[in-house]
Amino acid sequence: MSVTSPSPARVPDVMEGLAVWPASARPAAEGDVTVAGVSLAEAADLFGTPLYVLDEGEVRNRARAYRTAFPDADVIYAAKAFLCRAVIRWIKEEGLGLDVCSAGELGLAITTGFPAERIVMHGNAKSPEDLETAVRLGVGRIVIDSLSEIDHLTGIVPRRDPQQVMVRVVPGIAAGGHTKIQTGTDDQKFGLSLADGSARRAIDDILHRPQLSLVGLHCHLGSQITSVEPYVTAVQRMVGLMAQVRDQHGLELLQLNIGGGHGIAYRPGEQSLDIGILAGRVRSALEDGCAEANLRVPRLTLEPGRALLGPAGVAVYRVLSVKRTSGRTFVAVDGGMSDNPRPALYGVRYVPRLIGRHSTAAPALVTVVGRHCEAGDILADAVPLPGDVRPGDLLAVPAAGAYHLSMASGYNLVGRPPVVAVRDGAARMLVRRESLDDMSRRDVGL
Ligand SMILES: *Cc1c(COP(=O)(O)O)cnc(C)c1O
Repeated sequence: MSVTSPSPARVPDVMEGLAVWPASARPAAEGDVTVAGVSLAEAADLFGTPLYVLDEGEVRNRARAYRTAFPDADVIYAAKAFLCRAVIRWIKEEGLGLDVCSAGELGLAITTGFPAERIVMHGNAKSPEDLETAVRLGVGRIVIDSLSEIDHLTGIVPRRDPQQVMVRVVPGIAAGGHTKIQTGTDDQKFGLSLADGSARRAIDDILHRPQLSLVGLHCHLGSQITSVEPYVTAVQRMVGLMAQVRDQHGLELLQLNIGGGHGIAYRPGEQSLDIGILAGRVRSALEDGCAEANLRVPRLTLEPGRALLGPAGVAVYRVLSVKRTSGRTFVAVDGGMSDNPRPALYGVRYVPRLIGRHSTAAPALVTVVGRHCEAGDILADAVPLPGDVRPGDLLAVPAAGAYHLSMASGYNLVGRPPVVAVRDGAARMLVRRESLDDMSRRDVGL
């Protein structure tokens, strides 16, 4: 790989290098970048680094774009992408529902005032506490993921107040950005197989339980999917199963949840899933399939997580060391796999940008690494940064809003970074930095 320096004749583009940033991001004086009118360099000084900045307007605009593209569907935010009280409030105010997969996520949502009937609970292995909390707090729908769960749930739901459930079906479709995030095939842990008949067995079983009310079918193909084809195939297979249920049981299922997984661009030039195209193709596949099978068109549910929060987040790190060795330059920052495990989990790479200082040095290809004690703690590989990058510099990483902090760990006891919301030129703390005191408080034995 070689570095091409920018041609002097090129017309300067104000958005240059900010293609996968929040739409509000602007280059500013002295190499700074503002997001929603807030200087990232100033935010780094004020709140310290590593720092996560979340553009509230970007999240809200993305939620609205979904509601516009799918006006007669339920759009449900998958909480596991990132959850805190402010995000719960934004999602509620934008009229979306919420997907949770634990009593913890559910409890946070309810205590923040999220309406229980707009919550869906998932999970391949819900604990007794998860299920009891869901039933007690009255979540709208529980998605059944195994045959044994039907017994567990039946045991805690009062007969007089049946629980609405859906069955998570594995449609046998391979899609998703990495094998670790493919969930539509038969050789992974989620859901009940269409191919081997276990989805139909679960449906038969549920229909014999007066405590459970089967309202529809669910599938989730995986994550970071950038093409609409897998969704179209999934809709066709799910409609096929709905027709079988109607033929066998005389029951028309009126809801179809096709999950989330909508891919985003992490690096300039990468493809994201176009939700306008998705909406059109899914709708016509659903209408055609239902017309052919003589079924009523079910109400659609979508569950985006990454596509709502991912592009709204920016991580800001400070450079701690620059090491030139065996022909490579390692730029080490003050965070890494404890705030963002995605590179270590899936081998993904980002494109950081130097901020807060204007450099005229020619770009050089560098490897940006974290501070943690693992050689796989790598944020970026062979990315161009100004050749004079040095300790004390700030690096910003876009597309950091989903599956970073929600998967953060206590590795090396560095403490998890704070989250700051930016809106209309103002920044406010949502989640404070985790202190040594926070961590040592749990360490109660000696
Ligand atoms: C994770 C998950 C989602 C959201 O996936 P994204 O890739 O973040 O859109 C939706 N539904 C279910 C059941 C999930 O497990």
